[in-house]
Amino acid sequence: MPRLILSDLHGNLEALEAVLADAEGLYDRILCLGDLVGYGADPNAIVDWTRNNAAVVVRGNHDKAGAGLDDMETFSPLARASGLWTRTVLTPESQSYLERLPRGPLPYESVNLVHGSPADEDEYLISVEDTLPVRAYLDARVTFFGHTHVQGGFLLAQRAAMRIAPAGLLQIEQKYFYLVNPGSVGQPRDGDPRAAYAFYWPDERKVEFRRASYDIDRAAAKIRAAGLPDFLAARLYEGI
Ligand code: ZN
Repeated sequence: MPRLILSDLHGNLEALEAVLADAEGLYDRILCLGDLVGYGADPNAIVDWTRNNAAVVVRGNHDKAGAGLDDMETFSPLARASGLWTRTVLTPESQSYLERLPRGPLPYESVNLVHGSPADEDEYLISVEDTLPVRAYLDARVTFFGHTHVQGGFLLAQRAAMRIAPAGLLQIEQKYFYLVNPGSVGQPRDGDPRAAYAFYWPDERKVEFRRASYDIDRAAAKIRAAGLPDFLAARLYEGI
């Protein structure tokens, strides 16, 4: 059975529930790449669920902010506004859980887990060029990363790299290195508003990229009711 790979849940309980329903009975352990909180209206519910269910978790930048470990100076105004709100609603138990989350890269079985990049947990791997300096840090064939909220990732060959299309099954080949992004559960930014996640089979060495439709109306209404910036609700419909 595959591992269930989740990233960037961002306090979106409706999206998480849809992913779990879509994946039900099809996976064994859960691996999480961070950003449990921030942007969404249900940070405590996501923290509780992750604490009780994930086999392994690395921290994201929003988790650090929620725990008070980051002053949010590099955050966009929207991210900062939601970060400040998140701090006010997190329970002490949630805060101390976030505070204790390990920084990536974290080796787990045969793969590495990071939030941003193997070189820097806060770095964004957006373009193929971004991945070239990272090669020196890769000590596993497969590194799972998040942070960009874009499903897919990159294949690194000897002298070149290319983008991985997030369609169907990806077979891992021994001669390449792979940076694989399952996409964001709670706030996709790749133009597809459905919640994104992935399965990984360690023995067969393959990845499946998956999407699940969820109740965006409900998640957006909670964001608006919390008094969070309207754009954080509106963007969910567009997947931006
Ligand atoms: Zn994120």
